[in-house]
Amino acid sequence: MMKANDIRQAFKDFFASKQHEIVDSAPMVVKNDPTLMFVNAGMNQFKDQFLGQKEVRFPRVANSQKCLRVSGKHNDLEEVGHDTYHHTMFEMLGNWSFGDYFKKEAIDWAWELLTDVFKISPERLYATVFEGDSEDDLPRDDEAAKFWNAYLPEGRILNGSKKDNFWEMGATGPCGPCSEIHIDLRSEEERKVTDAVELINQDHPQVIEIWNLVFMQFNRLDSGELKPLPAKHVDTGMGFERLCMALQDKTSNYDTDVFQPIIQEIASISGKTYGKDEKTDIAMRVVADHLRAVAFAIADGQLPSNNKAGYVIRRILRRAIRYAYTFLGQSEPFISKLVKIVVQEMGDAFTELKKQEDIVTKVIHEEESTFLRTLETGISLLDKKMKKLKQNGSNVLDGKSVFELYDTYGFPTDLTALIAKENGYTIDEKGFEAEMKEQKDRSRSASKMETKDWTILNPSTDVTFKGYESTSIKSHLLRYRKI
Ligand code: ATP
Ligand code: MG
Ligand code: MG
Ligand code: MG
Repeated sequence: MMKANDIRQAFKDFFASKQHEIVDSAPMVVKNDPTLMFVNAGMNQFKDQFLGQKEVRFPRVANSQKCLRVSGKHNDLEEVGHDTYHHTMFEMLGNWSFGDYFKKEAIDWAWELLTDVFKISPERLYATVFEGDSEDDLPRDDEAAKFWNAYLPEGRILNGSKKDNFWEMGATGPCGPCSEIHIDLRSEEERKVTDAVELINQDHPQVIEIWNLVFMQFNRLDSGELKPLPAKHVDTGMGFERLCMALQDKTSNYDTDVFQPIIQEIASISGKTYGKDEKTDIAMRVVADHLRAVAFAIADGQLPSNNKAGYVIRRILRRAIRYAYTFLGQSEPFISKLVKIVVQEMGDAFTELKKQEDIVTKVIHEEESTFLRTLETGISLLDKKMKKLKQNGSNVLDGKSVFELYDTYGFPTDLTALIAKENGYTIDEKGFEAEMKEQKDRSRSASKMETKDWTILNPSTDVTFKGYESTSIKSHLLRYRKI
C-alpha cells in the first residue's frame, strides 16, 4: 500500500516528468487581497498570471497547495466531521499551464496518472463536462467530452451544471468551464445494485469527486460580465486526502494514514475508541481536522485574534475545544498535545510546520486555557436557556442570550448556533447583531469621553506575521493572560 507521503511525491514526480516546475505551496493565509482571506484553491497564488498581470516564469507548474475552506464562496465547515471527505484544511494537488498546453494534455495526463501510475481501475472512473449556460451565453464543452471519449464510453461522460462545472474562485476573478473526475469506491455488490451515474454529485460518501480540471478562459468582472482572458490556461486541483483514500482502499479520508496517526493519538489520550459511537467519531474527526487547520494557519503567520482572519482561526479552534470537551471529556488543554503528531507526519513535506512547532503548540495551549475557563459556565447557561425555550414552546434562542454568551463567555455565534442546532433550536442572528451594534455605540460614546485622559489601545488589532522573530508572539501571549 502506498503511503500518503509517497503519493504526494509520485504526483510531483509525474508532472516533473512532463516538464512542470515543482513549486512550494503558498502560505495558506492571504495577505493583501481584499477578495480572499485564505487560500481556497491551488490557483490562488497564480491569479495574476492568469489575468496577464504578472510575468510567467514557468509555463508549466505543479505543487501541493494547502487550502482552507471555511469562509466566502467555498465554505465546507458544516460538512467537516459529519461527512468523511470534506475538510477545513486540505491539500490540493495541482498542475498548471499558463498559456501553454490546454484541454487535451490536461485530460490525457490526468488519465495517465490515475490509471497508469496509480493503477486505479478505469471502470471506477467517470468524467463530467460543462453543459453550457444561457445566462453567460456559453456553449457545452464538446471539446472536453471528445477528449474524454478516448478513454471513457459516452455513458460515463456526464453533463454538469454551472454550479459544479464552471469554476470560480470568488465573486470576481479568473474562472472557466471545468471537467471533473469522479470515482466510485463502492464494493462490487453495491455497484451492481445502483449505477454510479445516479450517485455522482449526490453526496454519496463513496462516489466522490477527486479531480477538477479547470480551463481558465475568463475573468468575472464586478459587473458580473465575463471577459475573455488574454490567453487560455489550465488549472487543476485534486484532493490529496481523497486520492489517498482511493489508493489505500479506504472508505473514509480519516481511515488513511493522513489522519489515522492523529485519530489514534486522540483515542489514546482520551481513552475513547474510534469507530464505536457516531458522536464520538464525529468529535474525533472534527478535532483532527480543525487541529490541522489551526496548526497550519499559525505556522503561516495567522494568530488567533478577535477580528477578520484571526477570528476565523479562533472560531475553528473554539469549535474543536468544545467538541473535545463535550464528546471526548477533555476539560484541560488537549489539542495542543496533538501538535507534535501533526508535525511528525507532515513536517517533512511542510517544513514551516516543523520550524514553528513550539509557537504553534504554545498558542493553541493558551487559547485552550483561556476558553476552557469560561466554556463550562457558558454551556450550563446555554442549557438553562434551552430548557426555558422548551417550556415556552419556542425554538429560537434570543439575540440577547447569544450576545451574552459571546461577550461574557467567548462563544462565537456559530458555536452557539451549533450547540443550539444539536438540541433542535436556532439562534436569532438579527437580534444578536442588534445587540452588537448597541454595544459598539455604547463603547464609542464611552471612548469619546475617555480620550481626553487615556490613550486608547485597540486590543483587537490584527497581529501581522513577522516570522515570529520579533516580540509579536510574546505580546500576543501576554495579551491572553489579561483577558
Ligand atoms: P466537492 O464538490 O466535493 O465539494 P468541489 O467541487 O467544491 O468539491 P473543487 O473546488 O473542484 O472542489 O476543488 C478541487 C478538488 O479539491 C476536488 O475535486 C476535491 O477532490 C478537493 N476538495 C474540494 N473541497 C475539499 C474539502 N473541503 N476537503 C477535501 N478535499 C476537497
Ligand atoms: Mg465543494
Ligand atoms: Mg464539486
Ligand atoms: Mg469541483
